[in-house]
Amino acid sequence: MEKRGQRIDTKLIHAGEPFPLIEGAVSLPIFQSATFEYRGGHDYHALRYIRLNNTPNHDALHRKLAAVENAEAALVTASGMAAISTVLLTLLGSGDHLLAQNCLYGGTHALLLTEFPRLGIDVDFIDGNTPDVWQQSLRPGTKAIYVETITNPLLDVADLRAVVEFARAHRLVAVIDNTFASPINFRPAEIGFDLSLHSGTKYLNGHSDIVAGAIIGRAALIDQINRKLGHFGGALDPHACFLLQRGMKTLAVRVRHQNDAALKLARFLETHPAIAAVNYPGLAGHPNHHRALELFDGFGGMLSFELRGSVDRAEKFIARLKLPISAPSLGGVESLITRPATTSHSGMTEQERRRAGIADHLIRFSVGLEAAEDLLSDFEQALEN
Ligand code: PLP
Repeated sequence: MEKRGQRIDTKLIHAGEPFPLIEGAVSLPIFQSATFEYRGGHDYHALRYIRLNNTPNHDALHRKLAAVENAEAALVTASGMAAISTVLLTLLGSGDHLLAQNCLYGGTHALLLTEFPRLGIDVDFIDGNTPDVWQQSLRPGTKAIYVETITNPLLDVADLRAVVEFARAHRLVAVIDNTFASPINFRPAEIGFDLSLHSGTKYLNGHSDIVAGAIIGRAALIDQINRKLGHFGGALDPHACFLLQRGMKTLAVRVRHQNDAALKLARFLETHPAIAAVNYPGLAGHPNHHRALELFDGFGGMLSFELRGSVDRAEKFIARLKLPISAPSLGGVESLITRPATTSHSGMTEQERRRAGIADHLIRFSVGLEAAEDLLSDFEQALEN
């Protein structure tokens, strides 16, 4: 039962839920059945089967995800990388060409550079801040443009409105990885993106206990992608669907807390003498602060920073912190800290990292749901020592 004009907090709870409730259950039960009774018809993709991503658990999530980003349709996938690879392999084939932002999540970067050449798909990297020169990279086979809302790990915010305009002008599909912002802070369909992707592993689920992905956008594209997903097999298990749906219900309260705490931490770090640089789009000194202010409802729970000194100093600082857990991934209730050169971006060569501006001693921090004051005290003691 979709109601227009509801706020995102309400949609997260009620959108897409079955009506009437199944046996009165307030929480949608898990349909742990691989296959379902045949109901007629000849379309393979209309059969109910977990790999075809169409159990009642999938259907409810698809409706909820589309509603929260004000988009036409949505799909869940087995991981964020399943979402990214299935979308790109639907849009691109041998002889085609992709324009991609030059600083991306390491796994996406590796997919583009290690798998695509073998498939005859070419990629050119563009600077998200220089739309005037993007045209120089266009080719007759260019099919899509791919960016991240807030880049991992440097927290850059590309000229997202220019990406959409450029895609329209050159008949490209505009694709964005919206993981870092989450639908609370940014809804790409509202400014005209064709497809928005998520690692559902992060904010959407928010509890660091599943791996999942989401694809949200235009219904005609989602239909094509769904058919490819059935062929490639990256469906989400119903139990993971249940956990993702449960996680999404608290997305708004979690992300707003994380927005506030991240801003406090970024402001604290910005003035600390031991810190050489802080990357957070909510800081007035961030090069894209005004763009972020115009586009987003909040600046997110991710920040990255460099201590004065070496990798050794960064490692010692991480070891001294008592609350954050040193681990890759992000967007969960526990604060996580990592050095991207050793985790999320270790798939890039040192040279590629340097070109992208990712220093070996760069630290990435994912703010959890601990009290901001406790995180600040912890940072303070670790920097003092
Ligand atoms: N996109 C971003 C921005 C990420 O940070 C990640 C993982 O860290 C992914 C996509 C891939 O997601 P998953 O690990 O769920 O496959």
